Amino acid sequence: MLKAGRSQEEIRQHNLGALLRHVHLGGPLSRTELADRMGLNRSTIMGLTGELTAAGLVREELPKDTGRAGRPSLVVRPESDRVYVIAFDVRVDRLVAARVGLGGTVLDRREAIRPRAGADLDDVVGTLAGFARQMYREARPDAVCVGVGAAYCGMIRPGDGMVRFGPNMGWVDQAFGTELGLRLGLGLPVSVGNEAHLGALAEHERGVGVGFQNLVYLHGDVGVGGGIIVGGKLLDGDGGYGCELGHMMVNPYNGRPCGCGSHGCLEAEVGEQALIDAAGRSSELTGRDGVRAVVDAAGRGDVAAVEALRRIGDWLGIGVANLINLFNPGLVIFGGMLREVYQGSAAQVHSRVEANVLVISRERVRLRTSALGDDATLTGAAELAFSEVLANPLEALAHGAGRIGAGRAHPAPR
Ligand SMILES: [Zn+2]
Repeated sequence: MLKAGRSQEEIRQHNLGALLRHVHLGGPLSRTELADRMGLNRSTIMGLTGELTAAGLVREELPKDTGRAGRPSLVVRPESDRVYVIAFDVRVDRLVAARVGLGGTVLDRREAIRPRAGADLDDVVGTLAGFARQMYREARPDAVCVGVGAAYCGMIRPGDGMVRFGPNMGWVDQAFGTELGLRLGLGLPVSVGNEAHLGALAEHERGVGVGFQNLVYLHGDVGVGGGIIVGGKLLDGDGGYGCELGHMMVNPYNGRPCGCGSHGCLEAEVGEQALIDAAGRSSELTGRDGVRAVVDAAGRGDVAAVEALRRIGDWLGIGVANLINLFNPGLVIFGGMLREVYQGSAAQVHSRVEANVLVISRERVRLRTSALGDDATLTGAAELAFSEVLANPLEALAHGAGRIGAGRAHPAPR
């Protein structure tokens, strides 16, 4: 879009990024479709795709038989195998790493399951860097890494990826982003985000939230986190620590203790341990398996499990009702283990929404489970890593690790 006061060069840079974003998120698109979506004429689109093709970011092909007469419009595809990011997901019980191509294709993936306690910074960074080393070596020789992103289950300082507080891993002020960047040795900064913030972004860009400009994402793991998209943008707060929906107070007088030190937070009342305890199954399975066992038992009519889900669903509904009244979202998404909890307690959640949300505020809201499932946070980390190349494609490519057409310009990760 043309705006007064911007130079031709700025407009060109903006349009290059916008075009790349369209094919990155929308898949292969014809020049005609791009012209329509971007509101530009076809000769401008041809110039932009020419530059992106020359840089090796996209390629143009004749479409498969269109069934129509006349000269077909060339299809623009992202160069998924050549341009990629490395994405990490640090969860309490597992570490995930993936090499993700432009366009969002997962090209390679590694995962380590871990015990829940005792992982220190050095362990985590060492494991992740090892995975990155393997994946980097297996990329084709002319491929280029244009970014590194990581999702972490805690409160993250945006500038440098410092973990300020990761209660479920026992981390306080750990220099995660900086240490991981050093250990990788790619010469690229590591962008780190809170897992639920990134889950919200991923669902908004690639999941059930596509097309919604205002949505709330609730993510359950050991704890409960959240991300809120307002007007198409993540609500991050003054220091980047916003949307700690898990610590919204719902039960101040008789609440269960929370990992944050308070009592009666949403996380304490609807988290996995709350459900397992409510079902009287504390001595059996724990974690995600424990949650699934309760939901399955409720499906078979087990009275204690049904009652536990009803109770947890009531607390979840109270939290959701508050969020709908506050933010008037078009969509509320349940991700992580809250997918299972919501599926087992939807009636209770809906009845709280009916009872406690202003009629006008709930006229259009939909409640849905995550479309990306357990990969929502990893997908969000990949999107975070792509943000630089989508904002400024040619410059980001020039700074990438490994150069297209020039072999590996940087050493592999140590
Ligand atoms: Zn709390």
